[in-house]
This record gives sequence, C-alpha cells and structure tokens, in this order.
Amino acid sequence: MYQISHHGAVHGVDGSLHELTWRLEKQEIHRFWIDCGGWVRKSASGSENEPNVPQPLPEAIFVTHAHFDHIGRVPQALVAGFKGQIYASKATCELIPALIEENLRLEWTRNRRLITKVLKLVETLLRPVSQKQWFRPIDDFPELRVRFHPAGHILGSSWIEFEGPCIRKSNGKYLPTAQENVVFSGDLGRSQTALLPAPSGPVKADLLVLESTYGGKSHPSPGQRKKELLKTLVHALENEGSILVPAFSLGRAQEMLAELDQLKRSDRRLKDLEIILDSPIALKLTELHRKLQYAWSEEARKRWQSGARPLDPENFTPIESHQDHLRTVRYLAQTGRPALVLASSGMCEGGRIVNYLEKMLPDPRHDLVFLGYQAKGTLGAAIQNASKKKSVRSRRVIINKKNIEIRAQVTTISGYSAHADHQGLIKFTEKLQNLPREIRLVHGDQRAKNALRRSLKDKGFRAFCPK
Ligand SMILES: [Zn+2]
Repeated sequence: MYQISHHGAVHGVDGSLHELTWRLEKQEIHRFWIDCGGWVRKSASGSENEPNVPQPLPEAIFVTHAHFDHIGRVPQALVAGFKGQIYASKATCELIPALIEENLRLEWTRNRRLITKVLKLVETLLRPVSQKQWFRPIDDFPELRVRFHPAGHILGSSWIEFEGPCIRKSNGKYLPTAQENVVFSGDLGRSQTALLPAPSGPVKADLLVLESTYGGKSHPSPGQRKKELLKTLVHALENEGSILVPAFSLGRAQEMLAELDQLKRSDRRLKDLEIILDSPIALKLTELHRKLQYAWSEEARKRWQSGARPLDPENFTPIESHQDHLRTVRYLAQTGRPALVLASSGMCEGGRIVNYLEKMLPDPRHDLVFLGYQAKGTLGAAIQNASKKKSVRSRRVIINKKNIEIRAQVTTISGYSAHADHQGLIKFTEKLQNLPREIRLVHGDQRAKNALRRSLKDKGFRAFCPK
C-alpha cells in the first residue's frame, strides 16, 4: 500500500516535493521524498502554502535533478533535522553542492563558515547512484528497489522508478500482492540536444507522476529552431546590436554554448560574434560540465573527440566580477557591438540579465531572445506580454523600479526549452506495457495539465490533476 502527497509543484512549476509513503504492515511505514525543491518566484510560495518543509521528515530523499525548484529546500530539511540519505545520479551529486552554495549565498547568509558547514553536511548525506541500475536504498525495507534513468533535461537529470511489494487489506488481513512500480518523471527533456542523451520512458508503472510544463505546446523541430536562432542572430548583426539571452545557469547556458559553437562553425556570418557568459555560477557550472563528460550524449562526446570544445573558456568571454559586469552592460548598451550575452536568471527574476534589460530594452538595435517557458508572474513573462502590444507606448515594464519602454526586438524560440513538449510527454508513456492505475499530472499551469490530461485520456489512460 502506498500513497503519494504533494508539497509543491501542483499549481505551477515551483517547489517540487512529492512524498511517497509505503505502508508494509499495520505499523510499518516508510516515507520518502522525491525532490525537495524551492520556489524560484518568492511570490509563488504563498500560493501553495508550503514555504517550509513538511513534517514528518522522510527516511531518504531521491533527487531527480539539480535545478533549484527540485533541490532548493534541502537546507531547510537539514535545519528541520533531516539526517537520512540523499540519493541522486553521480552527475547530479556533483552539481548539487555548487547550486546550494549559490542559493545560500544569495538568499540566506554571506557567512563563509556557516555555508561550509551546510555544504559539508549535504556532502555527507549525498549518495551517488548509477543510472539504469537497481539498488536497495533502505536496509530494513529490502524488498524496495529503486532505479534512476536518464531524463534528458539537464546534466545528470533522471526519472525515478520505485518497485516494492504492495500489501492490501482483505477480510481484516494484510496480504501481499504483486510488486508494483511507482514512477516519478521529474523534469523531462527533449531529444536531439547539443549535450544530453535523449530520455526514454518506463515499461511498467502502476502509478506515474508526470510533469506537464509544456502540455498543449509543441516545440519546433531541431532544424527549425536552429534556423530561427540563426535568423535572430543575423538580424541583430545587421542592426549592429547585441543579443540578450536570459539563461538558467545550469543547463540552458551550457546547451547554448554548445549550440552556438556548432552554428559559428557552420555559418561564416557569425564569425565575429562574441559570446559572453556573464554569470559566476554559470561559469563554475560550465567548468563542471566539462569535467562530467561521462554524462554527455554519445554524439556530444564524439564531437569533443573530433576537436569541438564549446565549453572551453577560449570559446567565449567569461565575465566574473560585478565591476566587469557593469562595464560590459555600459559598453554594449552604448556601442551595440556584435555580441551575444548569456546571463541568468532564465525568467529574468533577478540576476545580471536585469541590468542588461534595463539599459538595452529601450534601444531598437538590440534583440532579446527567450529560449523557453516564462512562468506567469515573472519579469520574463511581463516582457513577453508587453512586447506583443500594438501601441508602442504600452510596451512597458518595470525594471529596477524604473518604467522601461521596450523597443528592442523580443523573440521566443521554444525549441531550446530544456523541457519535452506535449508530444514528448506523451511519448514518455508509449513504452508502457501495462495500464497505470493512475497518471498524476504535476509541475504545470492548469491549462497545460488539462491539455495533457485530454490527450492521455484519448489514449486510454486514467490521468488526473491533484488538487
Ligand atoms: Zn528542471
């Protein structure tokens, strides 16, 4: 008998924390969390009424990937007394400390000793596991097996499969039934990315918790998205402007460096386009990506063997210090030098991209390119909406407390999202050889969940959106 409850990522995409409770005998209960995510948008935390960690604490946490909305509440879990193990893929275990350190520094404390103490504690609890291999995480629950599989979303990202005995009450007695499988998709990626292996779906799931970020939406094909990006780059070069790309420090930034490297190699018009990576944390994570080649796709490793080095600092301009950042913003805003800036955050909620937006959005020479989903309530979504307005006067947003007019060209190329689109999400269910008792849709806006639920029902699945 098992139950799942959700403590985030139900009415939106923030704060993923799903609780799996496995009941064996009358009194024996094992409690696990799948992800322990924080809220990217502070305003969103109130909507799900779960700013802190739920109680009671679990025996173990299983982490699908290292994005903040899947690991952000790990420090709070430690403060609340969590002492269990944190299972994640090897690459995710390498990335987690860097991401937690960044969050502690930005949101909680600059006290180096305190940060080091938390990081040491996290590192002692982390248990790296190999993907595609069963393991038994709980000594006094040896019947439970767990397996991580590549999810193709960011480096090391996984969907997780739990298999254990299901015990049902019959005539007052607890009787074991067959083994049952519970699958958590985490965030699923798309196929044919520049660095990552493509995801493949489960063959058995009695209960599937499925993300739905891009439900109802479809991405352009890889060829189409490259064409769109190239068109935008050439437009900016002709306009003698720069290109701003808000990018998540983890995943999107490294994927774009690899994609831009391929584009520059194939099109001479981009020869002089300078690529600027303006984010200390993205620089650190890019260095980690270089080291973790075992988690790249086979194609990416082959390209590396044949000489492509997209993540090496010789191929882009790293901006580390805040002074250099401010200098670069001023320089590009004035000169319109042909440059592409990758800076966080991906949804323009804070981070260095905000200073670029303030200075460069009012100038029609420049281009702003969104590469994926902009959640409702973020500055990214506000810019997207305002830029579509017919009257120039109403194309305005508030940035750094200033009323900024948008005269730069704003483009969205959804094909570079790190998430699978509607068809990709459906494809994740296509290898299933049994009919799950339930597919539970999480991690998406209501419209996205409804669209996905309709398609899954058309295919004969029982799909639900938890309240
Ligand atoms: Zn993610």
